[in-house]
Amino acid sequence: MINVAIDGPAGAGKSSIAKAVAKDTGYIYADTGALYRSVAYYMISRNISPDDTAEIIAALDGLEISLTYKDGQQRVIAAGEDVSDKIRTPEVSMGASKVSAVPEVRTFLFDLQKKIAAENNIIMDGRDIGTVVLPDAQLKIFLTASAEERARRRFAELEGTEGVTFESILADIIKRDENDMNRAVSPLKQADDAVLVDTTDMTIEEVITLLEKMIKETEEKES
Ligand code: C5P
Repeated sequence: MINVAIDGPAGAGKSSIAKAVAKDTGYIYADTGALYRSVAYYMISRNISPDDTAEIIAALDGLEISLTYKDGQQRVIAAGEDVSDKIRTPEVSMGASKVSAVPEVRTFLFDLQKKIAAENNIIMDGRDIGTVVLPDAQLKIFLTASAEERARRRFAELEGTEGVTFESILADIIKRDENDMNRAVSPLKQADDAVLVDTTDMTIEEVITLLEKMIKETEEKES
């Protein structure tokens, strides 16, 4: 199995790019951010604050999460409910950033991520895939862009959503980067053997072409 790990900060384009590359190459795309988001969504929907570590740990016991694939699209099922579309709000983004700092939450999601990667040719994106979840991935990419450019892209996606301004998105992105890079467990950082791709001045098509070239080279090396 070939495992491709893509890590990087919020809004670097990881998911749109990984999704497109997976479609072209026939790999399965696993969006691990969706797992942390679904934990946050589950807590929020039960009136548990994403800051209440003890309550979060206690509630994990009653939670079952799985990933399924429908028409090549990943769906996340949490506690029997398909939450895939409900986990994309700014509230859930910030909640995910908070619950993901709880070591028990990371352990809870670890086996699920390992299992998917063991069974498939996979492109998995997240924050700690190359460093912690799939340290033996044959190809590791650290995808980044300036905070302003990342906020611009997110804003374009969410434009028209009530209460969402460019400034609020930029502030959220900076805050989430700070949370993700400074937490004690599995902080966001580039793996020593990851290739750095800065997409600030690249189009999405250019990034997709570059990654597909890297995957092809990896496949040739592995065969
Ligand atoms: O990638 P996405 O923005 O959906 O991730 C939401 C949050 O989940 C991130 O801000 C991060 O805190 C957390 N996360 C993580 N480890 C991963 C993927 C996501 O901590 N592998």
